[in-house]
Parts: sequence; C-alpha cells; structure tokens
Amino acid sequence: MRKSFKYFLIILLIAIILAMAFLFRSTASKTVDTKADEPVVDVVLVGGGIMSATLGTFISELEPNWKIEMFERLDQVAQESSNGLNNAGTGHSGFMEMNYTSEKDGKMDISKAVKTASQFEVTKQFWAYQVKNGVLGTPSSFINPVPHIAFVWGDNVNFLEKRYAAMIQNPMFSGMKYSADVAEIKQWAPLVMQGRDPQQKVAATRMEIGSDVNYGAITTQLVGHLEKQSQFKLNTSTEVTGISPNQDKTWTVSYKNLKTGQASHVKTRFVFIGAGGAAIKLLQMTGLEETKQYAGFPIGGVFLMTDNPKVTEQHSVKVYGRAELGAPPMSVPHIDTRYIDGKKYVLFGPFATYSNKFLKNGSQFDLIDATNKNNVIPMAKIGTENLDLVKYLISQVSMSKQDQFEELKKYYPEANIEDWTANQAGQRVQIIKKAPGKEATLQFGTEIFVAKDRSITALLGASPGASTSPYIMLSLLEKAFPQQVAGTWNPKLHEIIKSYQKDLSTDPVLLDQVRQYTSSTLGLKYTPTRQAANDAQANIAVAK
Ligand SMILES: Cc1cc2nc3c(=O)[nH]c(=O)nc-3n(C[C@H](O)[C@H](O)[C@H](O)COP(=O)(O)OP(=O)(O)OC[C@H]3O[C@@H](n4cnc5c(N)ncnc54)[C@H](O)[C@@H]3O)c2cc1C
Repeated sequence: MRKSFKYFLIILLIAIILAMAFLFRSTASKTVDTKADEPVVDVVLVGGGIMSATLGTFISELEPNWKIEMFERLDQVAQESSNGLNNAGTGHSGFMEMNYTSEKDGKMDISKAVKTASQFEVTKQFWAYQVKNGVLGTPSSFINPVPHIAFVWGDNVNFLEKRYAAMIQNPMFSGMKYSADVAEIKQWAPLVMQGRDPQQKVAATRMEIGSDVNYGAITTQLVGHLEKQSQFKLNTSTEVTGISPNQDKTWTVSYKNLKTGQASHVKTRFVFIGAGGAAIKLLQMTGLEETKQYAGFPIGGVFLMTDNPKVTEQHSVKVYGRAELGAPPMSVPHIDTRYIDGKKYVLFGPFATYSNKFLKNGSQFDLIDATNKNNVIPMAKIGTENLDLVKYLISQVSMSKQDQFEELKKYYPEANIEDWTANQAGQRVQIIKKAPGKEATLQFGTEIFVAKDRSITALLGASPGASTSPYIMLSLLEKAFPQQVAGTWNPKLHEIIKSYQKDLSTDPVLLDQVRQYTSSTLGLKYTPTRQAANDAQANIAVAK
C-alpha cells in the first residue's frame, strides 16, 4: 500500500513537472537567419478567408504597386468559416437580431442594432464599388434580397412591440413593419405560421431591405481578381508555421508547402493574421508582449438544412427568434432562406457543437496548443464564472436529431424530419482577454489587434463577422496606417465608401441616397424614404 502510494506521488510529481514545462514553454517562433539583400514584400496576408480577401482588395486599390502575398493552408480559399455553407449567410443589419436590443428600466436600448446597421451600409458600399469596377461579378452570385423578420410568441410580444416603437424612430430602420396579425404574418412567413396553435399570441417585424449573402463567393471573387494582378501572389496548400521579427524592423513569415513538405520563408513589412479561429495561435508566434493577454474558446455550429423545393418554395425570408434567457448570442434560433451557387436552401439552427479545434479543418490539439502560462488562469476563471455557458453547451451537445427537430418545429410546426439533414458549419473561437490589471473577460464580438509598432495586425473573434468585413478592415487600416488614411488614401476611401467618416444614422437624406445607390447596384429591394415614412404611418395606425 505504502509502495503504491509512493509510485502515485512520483507519477504525480512527473505530471506536474511536465505540465509546468509545457505551460512555461516559449510560444514565440524561432528567429530565422535572413540575408540583408532578401526581397521584402509589402504585405503578407495569413489565411484565405473573407477578411484577408477584403483587406487585400482595399490595399491593392489604395497602393497598386505594393507587393502582397497571401498564404492559405487549404487547397482553395474560402473553405473555413467564410464558406457559403459554413455560416448562416446573414447580412447582419440589426433588423431582426433581437439580442442586439435590450430593455433596461423600461427603456429600449437599440444602440447595438444601429451600430450594426451602420456597419452593413459600409459593407454594401464596398461591394457596390467592386461590382461597378468588375472586381465582383453578378450581384446575385453573392447577395440576394431576403427580407429580415423578427418573430416572437407569448410574453416576448410585448418586448417586440417596444423594440419596434424604439427602432422605427431611427432612420436606419425606416420602412420596418410591425404586425401582430396572424393572417399578415402568415403571408410574410407561411412555413412559420402553418399548423401553429391559432390561440398563440404572436408578433413580427419585417424589413424588406434584408439580404442573404454567400461570403464564400465574395471571397473567391475578390481573391480571383487579386490574382490577375502581377503584384499579388496566392500560395495555397501552404501553412504559415512561424512569424519572427528581424533586426531591420521587418518580419519573417515561415511557411511549409503541405503537398511537397518544402519549408521556406518571406520577409515583409506588414502582416495581417486573417487565420479565422487560428489567429490566436499565430499571434502567439510573434512573441509580442501585447499578444499574451489572449486565449480562445472554440464553439462550433450545426444547421439543419433542406433543398426540398416543396419547403424552399414556401420560404423566402430570414426569420430570427429570441434566444432563451441567459443563452449566449450565437444561440439565437433562426429559419433562413439561403442562396448558394444558384440553389435555394432553407436552414435552421444553429445548434452548438464542441470540439477542441480552432478551425473546422483544424487539429484536436489546437486548444491545448494555444494554452500557456499567461492564459491558463484566465481560461480556468472564465470557465468557472460562465457555468451558464457550460450548461448550455452540454445541453446542446447532448441533443439527438429528434431533439433538434423538436426545436425546428417551434419555427416550422409542419416540418417533416425526412427533409432535413444536419450540416456541420464553421468553428467560432470566442476571445478570452486578460488585459494587465483587469479582470479576464469572455467576448462574443470581433476584436482588431494592432501591435504597438503597427506592423502586425490580426482579427480575432467571430460576430457579427463576415457581414461587417469591409467596415472591420477599414477600421484596421485606420489603426495600422493612420497617416495614409488621413492623407494620400483619403480621397480613394471616399470614392469607395461614399459615406466614409459620416454618421448615416443621423443623416437620413444621405442614408436614403446611399441605400438607393447600393440597392440598385446590388439588386436589393429598397423603397426610398419618403414612401417608407408614409407606409410606416399607415402601419402604426393599423397596429394601434
Ligand atoms: C456557425 C456560424 C455561423 C455564422 N453566421 C454568420 C452570418 O450569418 N453572418 C456573418 O456575417 N457572419 C457569420 N459567421 C461569422 C463569419 O463566418 C466569420 O466571421 C468570417 O467568415 C471570418 O472570416 P475570416 O476570414 O476571419 O476567417 P476564415 O473564413 O475562417 O478564414 C481563415 C483562413 O485562414 C486559414 N488559415 C488558418 N491558419 C492558417 C495558417 N497557419 N496558414 C495559412 N492559412 C491558415 C484557414 O484555412 C482559413 O481559410 C458565422 C460563423 C459561424 C461559425
């Protein structure tokens, strides 16, 4: 007995020493010996998702002579979260996302919805500019008009009514309709209403100008256009394995061709880490002090999908419900029309999944690989402080297909289980941040990282994500290149984004002009403001 206890202690001691050695290992890349006369590229983009594609497009339009190299570990771009089937394709505008509005002391706070709507206006202007210049192709190949509906029942009707009353006063939501009339909501969303208990109290809002977006198509088209330029080089099946500083203030980006096994490197003045969920791991390679405050927590998503024409013909809207109290933002249930590569689908979800991977095509070691002495305690603390999230994840992961189907029936009472298949979407890595002297926080949004000397940048987090990619990349340019943005790049940025540096939410005339321009260019449905205002008046009268 004593002997076995002694062995146990020895094993425990070895385990503690190994764990300490692991946690205290260096995560920074080894320095690479480079020659002083090696060529230096202006920009390296790590990852071939929508963020890198958007930033690359911005930079090539602002500085056509800059040399840009993009590295993508998979054999094509847009195969991770930006892929059409790996996300919900919502052009997030705050129209129907009820988690962007909250009620405090009887007052409705719509600031997050206004912010998201404003950001999407920037996005649409960027895409419209690219369509006009032949960078993006036929708009319907990547964006389609799909009205956005917020739908509730029971006690939430009161919330939606108040939300509508607050939102309709802001120009961003001009044209929004509210209805508590079963027959009208049935016209808007037949699938959602057929077979529903006629006694159930329901209400909905509808924004005609909503959209469904294939972010994968945008990424592929943007990168396809960049590839036509001699200053741009795309390296697929090539994984970035290290990012290390040089004496001359440049960076060396090391990479490995995953098909041939050949390793090499490139020197650059500026790095953008657009590696999706893997961005935290790549940031750690830089060894920068500022990167030590981050850790990541991966959550995946599954959608139920159908392409049965009998179902898809009856649903041409996106309908968002209200998440259960205490549930995380990514858990909002929605039943959506999707257009992907010319085909119509209906999806429902998401259901959260758990894996240690930071990318859908990542490794089960990703989470452990990104854990070190700096972030292990904040990670443990966040785990114990967010037991609601842990419980939610356990309940989601343990759902059977029948359980998922029962959730679907709350939004589509006459659904047939045979029509639906489960599709594993992308991974979202939520940021855990522990800034010096502050409490560790779990964040559900996106965060732009810019190093102190502005030569290393990254995008972390997931939401609202792809729909705000031009807005986010523009903000990154402002932080990383403040002099150029205020100086030589300024006129071009105003040419690309007509409302640049203006607040559309307080300028209804400009907003109207911008929406007319983007909607006509992108094929979206928009009723100019004066007419919308008249309709809203009529709508309020009916609601009363
Ligand atoms: C379930 C789900 C639903 C979503 N729904 C929506 C939605 O409705 N609307 C919306 O706007 N957003 C949505 N999002 C978020 C959106 O998909 C992401 O914000 C966006 O796609 C992120 O783009 P990205 O370019 O940063 O990352 P990604 O598209 O993930 O691209 C990163 C790329 O980097 C590559 N890479 C990683 N590591 C390396 C390396 N070491 N070397 C080389 N390459 C590397 C990867 O292979 C990948 O191609 C959703 C996300 C999920 C998961």
